[in-house]
Amino acid sequence: MIVRFMLDGIVRGGSYSKENGIISRGEVLRLDEVFLLPPCQPTKIVCVGLNYVKHAEELKMPLPEEPILFLKPPSSILDPDGHIVYPASSSQVDYEGELAVVIGKRCKKIQAEEAEKYILGYTCFNDVTARDLQRKDGQWTRAKSFDTFAPFGPWIAKIDPSDADIETRVNGKVMQKSNTSDLIFDVPKLVQFISGVMTLEPGDVIATGTPPDVGPLQRGDAVEVAIEGIGVLKNFVV
Ligand code: MG
Repeated sequence: MIVRFMLDGIVRGGSYSKENGIISRGEVLRLDEVFLLPPCQPTKIVCVGLNYVKHAEELKMPLPEEPILFLKPPSSILDPDGHIVYPASSSQVDYEGELAVVIGKRCKKIQAEEAEKYILGYTCFNDVTARDLQRKDGQWTRAKSFDTFAPFGPWIAKIDPSDADIETRVNGKVMQKSNTSDLIFDVPKLVQFISGVMTLEPGDVIATGTPPDVGPLQRGDAVEVAIEGIGVLKNFVV
């Protein structure tokens, strides 16, 4: 797993495993002695809307013929252990647990078959959404873009993105439970589609869409996105 962290005021990278902790510049560190940072620094976060059949149904929206894309600004990024700030202008803030793809090499107009070569790995993502504002605005920029609305991490792992269990928990209770095999547009197709629109840079993040059973968060909640083979992203809402 690839990690980024801060120690003694210095930003560093390293590799993490449960057995060995963090290995960075020949040094072995414990997870609890470092401050984890988002595992990459995207120039953009490209999100996919309505990429699970049952999620489109629960929002009463038709199934898309092509991936529906929107962006979250880099200013919405949150540290893996950071707090999601509930905005005063919203009264319904929802969790959306998602598998995220991290781009490893610059790419443009590539085919699905070659997508894997351009992918660094995968991480957990919470596409936090002010649902009331999404409905009110008719488009999604404000609802998706508040500061702290893009927690991701805690690290980047190599997994098979076509078959990974994904689960979102609120205060320990399972709220979303699915598998990435239910994605309407799979990861290679998404990379082909998105790179046909915009150049993807190393560190850019693609959030692949949320499974059904999205729901609201309250101040004080602990929300976790757990993905098989990656780990758990846990954030508190304040
Ligand atoms: Mg989403």
